[in-house]
Amino acid sequence: MTCFEAAAADPRRVRRPQFHQNPAMSLLPILELPHPRLRNVAGTLDADRIATPGFQRLLDDMFETMYVAPGIGLAATQVDVHDRFMVIDVSENRDQPLVFINPVIHRRTEQLREHQEGCLSIPGIYADVTRADGIQVEALDRHGKPFVLEVDDLLATCIQHEIDHLDGKLFIDHLSPLKRDRALKKYEKLRKGRD
Ligand SMILES: [Zn+2]
Repeated sequence: MTCFEAAAADPRRVRRPQFHQNPAMSLLPILELPHPRLRNVAGTLDADRIATPGFQRLLDDMFETMYVAPGIGLAATQVDVHDRFMVIDVSENRDQPLVFINPVIHRRTEQLREHQEGCLSIPGIYADVTRADGIQVEALDRHGKPFVLEVDDLLATCIQHEIDHLDGKLFIDHLSPLKRDRALKKYEKLRKGRD
């Protein structure tokens, strides 16, 4: 059982890589349900933007925001940027940052896997979601270099979850109407409790 974007729920477990100690970085606000822009479909990122200081800074800020949250993935949509890219780190030591720009899933295994997922945009809600166990994904890295990855298990689940965000989808969309309803009611209650 794995809590998804909240996998590193115990802050003592979070060891942050060196480059995250740059004081120039800042935390970005994360859109939370029911924010309507979580349903935006992100557009292809213009590759000319990748090398710009503003975009590189945004990636650093997204990693910082994800590590502090703490989460294992963050899609641009969640920080109110509607271009297709996301940052992920599913490593135990939080030292394997991955950037996916304009990601495309080419293949999915028939074999499925269930993970307990959560989402930084729906804090406090967790549910089992079934997705392809393995995927082949193609994307650009943070330097604009294309790469292809074949991955399975948690990383495959995380990539599918984050690409869903870029398509305006949330993990609760994968639940049965009954379970989704229950999750939304619980979320409403949690939100009221926080106000
Ligand atoms: Zn999410």
